[in-house]
Amino acid sequence: MFHLVLAACLAAQPATCQSRLLPAGDAPTRQDCELRAGPVASDWLARHPDLTGSGPVRCVETGELPALTAQEVAPGIHVHQGAMAQVSTQNGGRIANLSFVIGDTVAVIDAGGSRAEGEALYAAIRQVTDKPVSHLILTHMHPDHILGAEVFSEAGASIVADARLPEAVARRAQSWMMSTPRQIGAAAFAGTRIAAVDQRVEAPQMLSLGDRELQLTPVPSAHTGSDMTVLDQETGTLFTGDLVFLGLTPSLDGSLAGWLDWIATPPDPMPALIVPGHGPVMEDWDEAVAPERQYLTALRDASRKAIGAGLPLSRAIPAIVVAMQPAAEGWADFRATTARNAAAAYAELEWE
Ligand SMILES: [Zn+2]
Repeated sequence: MFHLVLAACLAAQPATCQSRLLPAGDAPTRQDCELRAGPVASDWLARHPDLTGSGPVRCVETGELPALTAQEVAPGIHVHQGAMAQVSTQNGGRIANLSFVIGDTVAVIDAGGSRAEGEALYAAIRQVTDKPVSHLILTHMHPDHILGAEVFSEAGASIVADARLPEAVARRAQSWMMSTPRQIGAAAFAGTRIAAVDQRVEAPQMLSLGDRELQLTPVPSAHTGSDMTVLDQETGTLFTGDLVFLGLTPSLDGSLAGWLDWIATPPDPMPALIVPGHGPVMEDWDEAVAPERQYLTALRDASRKAIGAGLPLSRAIPAIVVAMQPAAEGWADFRATTARNAAAAYAELEWE
């Protein structure tokens, strides 16, 4: 397969340029790709006024595209494991686990933290299969999981998410579009836009890839207020999104009580594989959730204690971080994330 690659520079910073992959230009031969390249590129640029084209567009073979590395962890299940850190200019925002499931069509599970990461995930898929990408499933609203979504929309996929996600994203989108370029670098962020959700999931439902079925299950407020799990029935692989963190400190942006409830209710049937939102793929449910259960329980207990002692929020946050310190081992970005979690837990538990 051949792919259309456009050199584009930031209109506001003309020296900041990057290559953009435009899936709408995919073609079976170089000649087909080149025939359509001009109109596809100008149409795309018209919809991305923050960028200007620079030099001629190119048509390149799949193997020449920069691609994420992904492992096939079960038949037809491919997982890219993100960097074990908070987003930074060093990692370009590429911290979330991203997966794809190959049936008669392909479903992608989470899209990455920028347009560039979405493109590199798309290239990784195209290295393995030419099948149509029919769906992009977003496990929850966080930017490290959703900002690459527009690439898949342009590739023809339907974007599927929990029914609560669009409103949650809309409330935060403006702030993310301002802050993310500073966090991950303007070049890494170039061309990134928020994509619209096409299918809103309100209740458990099946999603068909032809010969393969995925079960989508919305979850009451836990890690966020828009969490949804995905179960591949054929292999028993459960994609939890950020309902399961391993190695990177869990971040609370929904309900601490709800999250502990979710952990306390093992899935039925038990999954054969658990793909967390951050950290390695696991085979055992209890092992997968034990570190996070311990962390969140300690957060709840330390927050209750600070509230019980009558500490105001400003003094409660450092007190909670200090009380949590014995639970720090094995968690990346412990202090900064725990301080934010302490504020969220305090606000939730204050009226308990
Ligand atoms: Zn998250």
